[in-house]
Amino acid sequence: VQEQLLHAQKMDAVGRLASGIAHDIHNVLGVILGFARTRQRLEEPNDDIEPVAQELADALEGTELAARRGAAVCRKLLNFSRRSVTMTETFDVAETLRELLPLLRQLLPPNVHLDVNASDLLLPIHFDRNQFELALLNLVTNARDAMPDGGFCVVSAAKYGENQVEITIRDSGIGMSDETVRRVFEPFFTTKPIGVGTGLGLSVVYDLISRAGGTIAIESTPGLGTCVRIHLPKSEAVAEDALQPSAQSVRVWL
Ligand code: ADP
Repeated sequence: VQEQLLHAQKMDAVGRLASGIAHDIHNVLGVILGFARTRQRLEEPNDDIEPVAQELADALEGTELAARRGAAVCRKLLNFSRRSVTMTETFDVAETLRELLPLLRQLLPPNVHLDVNASDLLLPIHFDRNQFELALLNLVTNARDAMPDGGFCVVSAAKYGENQVEITIRDSGIGMSDETVRRVFEPFFTTKPIGVGTGLGLSVVYDLISRAGGTIAIESTPGLGTCVRIHLPKSEAVAEDALQPSAQSVRVWL
């Protein structure tokens, strides 16, 4: 019985991991597909080639980042087949947000205006950088899905109190009912059509943030929009001027 129980637990863990990875790959492909939009722009008659060339350059950059992220997801899977590890490092949230900007732009259709407000102060956190980026991608994908007719998405990062970092993702989308707000972190809870939603995005993000000692909260008003607010402990482990991405510890989970 003991052995059967262990097996069932392992199968459950594998299932959750596989769904999580499928979800990540789905998001990355969403970014790459956004490239098709830029191709359409090239096919339209254009008097002024300069802005189109800029769009193309941005799209290529976003696509390259997305492809790299996809490769990282595959590495995660390979890691799991050996042993599942989380690589934590200390990095600056504000800088990471600025780097992610082209990729986030690529994810959003032209009728969604994106703003990134990253503090000039260093906001060091101790986290798996790749998983942090995937979490942001997940949240911005949700914001996009909530704004089929366009709108605003604002991603901000700032110091919160003395030793925390606050990251918010706001959208002017459809918002959520009270019932949805209560259930958003449940695995497989989705209000999206089959094939679009997996109901894993927010449960995976919740898991990641809690493991890192942080909190995530949702404020939402139907018809007005949603704000996802994340608090993470500010990393004091390194001197701030020595902040360089470096693998500092390896945490084994599952
Ligand atoms: P999925 O996006 O696959 O449905 P999630 O766990 O990411 O899975 O989200 C669960 C549900 O929470 C969504 O189906 C949607 O109803 C709601 N939701 C999440 N983010 C937002 C948002 N920014 N605006 C409105 N609803 C949202």
